[in-house]
Amino acid sequence: MEYNILDGKATAAAIRAEIKQEVEDILKNGGRRPSLTAILVGDNPASCTYVANKEKACADAGFTSEVKRFSSEISEEELLDEVRKINADDSVDGLIVQLPLPKHIDEKKVIETISPSKDVDGFHPISAGKMMVGEDTFLPATPMGITTLLKRYGVKTSGKHCVVLGRSNIVGRPISNMLSQKGEPGDCTVTICHSRTKDIETFTRSADIIIAAIGIPHFVKADMVKEGAVIVDVGINSIPDATRKSGYRLVGDVDFENVAPKCSYITPVPGGVGPMTIASLMINTLKAYKKRF
Ligand code: NAD
Repeated sequence: MEYNILDGKATAAAIRAEIKQEVEDILKNGGRRPSLTAILVGDNPASCTYVANKEKACADAGFTSEVKRFSSEISEEELLDEVRKINADDSVDGLIVQLPLPKHIDEKKVIETISPSKDVDGFHPISAGKMMVGEDTFLPATPMGITTLLKRYGVKTSGKHCVVLGRSNIVGRPISNMLSQKGEPGDCTVTICHSRTKDIETFTRSADIIIAAIGIPHFVKADMVKEGAVIVDVGINSIPDATRKSGYRLVGDVDFENVAPKCSYITPVPGGVGPMTIASLMINTLKAYKKRF
């Protein structure tokens, strides 16, 4: 089957250009730049890369962005104080705390301390609760990136059976909720599969749309997918690859090479959901800014 790539890289670039234009218009009208602050604790290489990518995207779009770096020795109370300080800082519109945090810090406490008005990651229980009941809020960046990508490609979701693999708070659970809500993208019949699901293939084989967010390289194989399915691969997994200078390469949760020919649409890894996540964070930061002015 001739499949279509859901090109997250190109779509995110288009969104970022639109945001940049909007920031220029704001500045022309005498407004100030939207601003995002990221808290980074410790030196986890993946976290450092994610934060650097977010910082670069913000700078490119004309946002003010700051990364507050702290040693992994910082105490929970000190970190909570830093969050409170940024909450009170009128020049900051959005605040994100890069996860994971060191073991001695309760992530839940930190997230719950972020002001919901600055919660551009959409992880605060107030944001999650509003999403759940379909109220306007900051949607979590990765699920929002997925629905934006489906919408921009005109992928119809109404009445479709969507199987979500994974039930994390940042991807699986929120995307399941969002796609079950009224509207387009939405109106799906959603099945959530997770580590305790038995005979997962029986669900995936009947899926019109599969969202894979489990973190196991090449988990979704061709015989698990029906002809014409839409596949969104959220996974980012590093596997050894001696042909690369780095000694590794990134792959998704889907066996792209063998699955793609059966699909109508599929996201690549890299260049699929990843760039859309950053674009969504920027949409949310602009939204936080607009809510205040
Ligand atoms: P997580 O580890 O929090 O959750 C994994 C989920 O997969 C769990 O709910 C678990 O029940 C399920 N699972 C584990 N083994 C399973 C199995 N054998 N069968 C069925 N389900 C199984 O992960 P997460 O934070 O949701 O991330 C998932 C993947 O997505 C990771 O590879 C992560 O790196 C990637 N990710 C990508 C982006 C992006 O921007 N592209 C954003 C977030 C996460």
